[in-house]
Amino acid sequence: MTEPTALFTDFDGTISDDDFFWFVADRYFDLSALEPWNRYLRGEMTHLEALNAIFSQIRLPENELLAFIDTIRIDPEFAPVAELCRRKGIPVYIASAGCDYYINRLLGPVIAANNIRLVTNHGVYSPHTGLVMHPPADSPFYDPGVGISKAKVVDLLHEQGYRVVMAGDGPPDFPAAEKADEVFAKKILLEKCLQANIKTRTFNTFKDVYNFICEV
Ligand SMILES: [Mg+2]
Repeated sequence: MTEPTALFTDFDGTISDDDFFWFVADRYFDLSALEPWNRYLRGEMTHLEALNAIFSQIRLPENELLAFIDTIRIDPEFAPVAELCRRKGIPVYIASAGCDYYINRLLGPVIAANNIRLVTNHGVYSPHTGLVMHPPADSPFYDPGVGISKAKVVDLLHEQGYRVVMAGDGPPDFPAAEKADEVFAKKILLEKCLQANIKTRTFNTFKDVYNFICEV
């Protein structure tokens, strides 16, 4: 008997076109506002600290921020994958080092309709504080540096007997890609997987994942 399959995916840059903080920075910030990201890249701040430092600079009326979030493009092939997985009884996890504030805004109905498990930080917005991300300290996936550990999600799915298919694009996805059974990788994650000799599958859009899941 073959193992059951679970699907695990990143959100920013994988389901959406790019990281939320890049979209915000492009529209509202100058380069100095991104200094926390450079500090993260130099190892002087954690990923969570850097994103909080950037997001706390957002000072818009909330309806304006939400209208801006609504302009972010989501891969239209993701919802069909979520529906296919629901029909086939394949659990789907979205794990993000970002936060639920914009993920639920962009994908809430798809998440709810398909029983997707969203593992991420909790974001709270006010024009006085900016967007503040609270890591889920009581979650089994908690990681102080990123908020949530994607590798721990893969570990749990393996413990439960699943073969893990994952999709991702960035550095926080790499520890999960090292453990997953099938990897759909784009951008920096693809480069890192190639360097580390981790086998990856062609991943232009979620149509590629759809075709794979059809055969599972
Ligand atoms: Mg990403």
